[in-house]
Amino acid sequence: MNGNERVTELQPGIFQVRGLAGSSHSYVIKGAYLNVLIDSGADHNFPVLERGLSEIGLRVRDIELVINTHEHCDHIGANRYFQEHALIAAYRLAASKMILGDYYVTMYKGNDLNEIPLRVHLWLENMTRLDLGNYSLRIFHTPGHTSGCISIYEATRGLLFSADTIFAGGTLSYIAESGSVGDYIDSLRRLRCFGLEALYPGHGRISMTPAEDIDRAIENAKILLEGRSEDREKIFFYKQQERSSSDAAVEGS
Ligand SMILES: [Zn+2]
Repeated sequence: MNGNERVTELQPGIFQVRGLAGSSHSYVIKGAYLNVLIDSGADHNFPVLERGLSEIGLRVRDIELVINTHEHCDHIGANRYFQEHALIAAYRLAASKMILGDYYVTMYKGNDLNEIPLRVHLWLENMTRLDLGNYSLRIFHTPGHTSGCISIYEATRGLLFSADTIFAGGTLSYIAESGSVGDYIDSLRRLRCFGLEALYPGHGRISMTPAEDIDRAIENAKILLEGRSEDREKIFFYKQQERSSSDAAVEGS
């Protein structure tokens, strides 16, 4: 952790810039071949991200590829600061929602209002591989929270950038209009097959026990699927955040 306290080097050349006030976290990978940003975060969070980048020796223009994990505005809102010079990549079901400017599904309505049309240059498919030289990223389509969610697996170190698909402790996102609990369980079961050493989610803390987190998440998703009326605070990440507002101030939401 350096002076900013919002920037952490998680692995050599892999940094987390923690989002403020509801923004997703952003992850920066200084690749040997290109610099990658996973999720630009909310528009209002851009000054935090820009400061974080400068602390790790990068200007905004040094980011060459932005991967959006899904179409929600707390993950894509600052794309407009990158899309003139960097390639923007998203899974095709997220990309179509982004470029159509559907502010209901991207949740811009009532949140950050971004009037600048979003661009998506690379429409990703399941199993797309990105070779950064020092790291190798594999895109996995993991629908559940929304239909267009991806998780990004770094195979050489067993890292999972899980966005809103799974959080530390196995809590879940809510199911958005295009999402599905059944898809969520399938996605979690597929993620469980990987050799994982660390979980880097879109909100909240990171976890070094990803297998346990996924097992718990599958149990939580089954409770939802079966309509069991168990304590929702155990299932949903945002319920835990509501309960602990002081954590929310530190972690984002
Ligand atoms: Zn989301």
